Amino acid sequence: MGIRTGDAYLAGLRDDREIWIHGQRVDDVTTHPGMARGPRTLARFMDKQFDPALSDLITYEEDGERIAMSFLPPKTPEDLRRRGAAYYEWARWSNGMLGRTPDYKNASIMAFGTAAEFLGQGRSDFAANMRAYYDEVRKGDKVLTHTLVNPQISLELAREGKYSGDVALKIVKETDAGVIVNGARLLATLGPFADEIEVFPSTLLKASDENEPFAIAFALPVSTPGLRMICRDTYDHGKSHFDAPLSSRYEELDAVVIFENVLVPWERVFMYRDPTLCNQAFAKSNAIVHMMHQVAAGKLAKAEFVVGLLCAMARATNKDKDMAVKGQIAEAMWIAESIRAFLFSAEHQAELDEWGNYIPLRRPLDTSRNLFPKMYPRLVELVQLLGSSSLMATPSEADFNNELAPDVERYFQVVNLNSHDRVGLFRLAHDFAVSGFGGRQALYERFFFGPPAVLASVYFDLYDKDEMIGRVEDLLDSAD
Ligand SMILES: Cc1cc2nc3c(=O)[nH]c(=O)nc-3n(C[C@H](O)[C@H](O)[C@H](O)COP(=O)(O)OP(=O)(O)OC[C@H]3O[C@@H](n4cnc5c(N)ncnc54)[C@H](O)[C@@H]3O)c2cc1C
Repeated sequence: MGIRTGDAYLAGLRDDREIWIHGQRVDDVTTHPGMARGPRTLARFMDKQFDPALSDLITYEEDGERIAMSFLPPKTPEDLRRRGAAYYEWARWSNGMLGRTPDYKNASIMAFGTAAEFLGQGRSDFAANMRAYYDEVRKGDKVLTHTLVNPQISLELAREGKYSGDVALKIVKETDAGVIVNGARLLATLGPFADEIEVFPSTLLKASDENEPFAIAFALPVSTPGLRMICRDTYDHGKSHFDAPLSSRYEELDAVVIFENVLVPWERVFMYRDPTLCNQAFAKSNAIVHMMHQVAAGKLAKAEFVVGLLCAMARATNKDKDMAVKGQIAEAMWIAESIRAFLFSAEHQAELDEWGNYIPLRRPLDTSRNLFPKMYPRLVELVQLLGSSSLMATPSEADFNNELAPDVERYFQVVNLNSHDRVGLFRLAHDFAVSGFGGRQALYERFFFGPPAVLASVYFDLYDKDEMIGRVEDLLDSAD
């Protein structure tokens, strides 16, 4: 097996999966209007794995097969940097607009697969289950999504670290064949277009007997009976690439996942009724660090794209000769360069972990994942500030081909771009900073890695503060 073609990936999505959108069940996600173009884009990306010019960058060889680089266990610092380069290459293809390219989940499965012993603390067969799963998804080049978060029904319960048994995903029964689970999870980005869904607990499970029914980790095919996904509205409204350059290509969708008495076979269970183990899993396996690595590489590609967009917008009217505009765009450049520096720092201070893998230094990546949710809204704001009414002066492609064409050709030109190219550029800026697609991107950046307050407090707890506090105390104690 090994890397899969885009056609093979699309064929795999034509199964009995239960996907709902706009009040209707979807027959085939690869042909449904408003859905089909996202997975087609991903299929094109999967085909790139076969491009001989990219082969050594994004794949590696294992037993005579080419395997996606994100599955490579980093046994040397060089392996780690190869993984980073592959993440960045994948992210460049969508300029960071596809959050859930397969390398994101591959990074965590590689970590869990090579740290499977950790899961063996729960039950010895769970380690074997994870190793087998790592083999299956690696060799089958499977596309995964994940869903980690239980819906909360009240702040009071959330503060006590409890879940509502009415809505949260929980274990309801054990059988010889496996575990029956029931309830909902939010959210699964790319869910309708994934082969498999990884269902791990959020890292916020309070260790108590009461929470044991919620403490489970498993993975299933999206087409498993009883599993259904309810999607948000699509942002792909069927417009041309000219009219909607981003949403016509990169609609990855997000769905709430419902499990109605779903059977999880034992061989797909990785943790069971053990909140403490569940809480430690991402950190102890270092899956979290490998995922942060993929994320930082993706955010670099995204920030660079915004720099390019801002520069192109400014150049259109010679605003790039203006000192104030230069200063605004420089802010976007600082964001891109900060992420680049975090990535470099993390990769070049790699450490060997207890599982024999090199991991990037966590702190720079953790800094990046805490800052980017704050930086991204500023990038959007910079595009809005520079774009202003040009983001609204956006006739559609059809207007260049109807009786309005002479008006459109004349009144939308700017000094460095003809009307067609100016409108195309600003429609892109609109899709990035104003459209439903753009709004969802901003929401995604704020939340996809977890609640910002929680991420910040984890960062605080891990930060080595004592030496710095010592300096303050030394000054206060000093008689000089
Ligand atoms: C576009 C998008 C895609 C996503 N994709 C995925 C995915 O693929 N897989 C996945 O598992 N998850 C995904 N998520 C979910 C993400 O993990 C959660 O959004 C995130 O963990 C925050 O949880 P929440 O949405 O329940 O927000 P909440 O926990 O409800 O927090 C929302 C706000 O409520 C307030 N608040 C919350 N708790 C408290 C408290 N205890 N005290 C005081 N105030 C509080 C804060 O202001 C907080 O910002 C996605 C989210 C988005 C928006």
